[in-house]
Amino acid sequence: MYDVLRSNRLIKNRKFKVKIAKNAGFCFGVRRAINLTEKAIQKKNKVYTLGPIIHNPQEVERLKKQGIKILKESSKIKKSSIILRTHGIPFNLHKKFKKNKNINLIDATCPFVKRTQNIVKQLLDINSKEKIIIIGEKNHPEVIALKSYGKGKCVILENCQEAQNFKRKSKLINIVSQTTQTTKNFRNIVKILKKKHKVKVYNTICQATLDRQKSAKKLARNVDLMIVIGGKNSGNTTRLSQICEKITKTYHIEVADDIQEKWFQKVKIVGVTAGASTPNWIIKNIEKKIKELAYIVNY
Ligand code: SF4
Repeated sequence: MYDVLRSNRLIKNRKFKVKIAKNAGFCFGVRRAINLTEKAIQKKNKVYTLGPIIHNPQEVERLKKQGIKILKESSKIKKSSIILRTHGIPFNLHKKFKKNKNINLIDATCPFVKRTQNIVKQLLDINSKEKIIIIGEKNHPEVIALKSYGKGKCVILENCQEAQNFKRKSKLINIVSQTTQTTKNFRNIVKILKKKHKVKVYNTICQATLDRQKSAKKLARNVDLMIVIGGKNSGNTTRLSQICEKITKTYHIEVADDIQEKWFQKVKIVGVTAGASTPNWIIKNIEKKIKELAYIVNY
């Protein structure tokens, strides 16, 4: 039992309210990917995912216990089902898998990620000379895959500094975004590029990302402490945390055991949010632990 229940002093100090963000946890794309994975497991085939299916280590571990195996891109593949992750995979690899008759390809690429891939493909078909800017993280699997659809025409810009340094003679610059970017970073980069180039902007940040960022921001303004739940490898969770920490004290955690009691001293309202790849069971575990700490009766 937590010491909060043993000491009157602590009960008094730590009695705080907990508020959960209106939009938190699994988005449509991640839920779809998990459903497809679980269905494939039930069919008792050999099921592989290419890299982690989503960026949440605990959920990936849960699926591994059910029988899923994670492939490295270089692995030799025999007869099996391969689930493509929500972030998508590079164009050539996708083509190679499709040709392989031994592989039952289950495409869990989020339709919103696919939409951006299709925009890049179409832009290339219309005019292969124009540059395509991707606003996003260079090493993120979604951006790596997206870049491959541009066949050498894509340039990735992560931040304003890189946008300032970007110099090309291309008449028109097309701009797309990683689906989980912040609107602020996207707008700031577009603003810089507009000063130097003629630009065509495709805002491909997905609605689930926008909703989670908006809710997190709103909540952070009204609490003393924010707990952001999700994989440390999750881009969208990390950005939620970055948004919140500009407003109030914020901790990005993965599991209930990461919580430290000392964070809650003198806190009156705690806000909780979670990235689009954070499953409900983790959010519930953490919510339970926070409630126990706070000795909450009512929200
Ligand atoms: S965050 Fe958006 S793009 Fe990414 S999986 Fe979820 S719905 Fe799809």
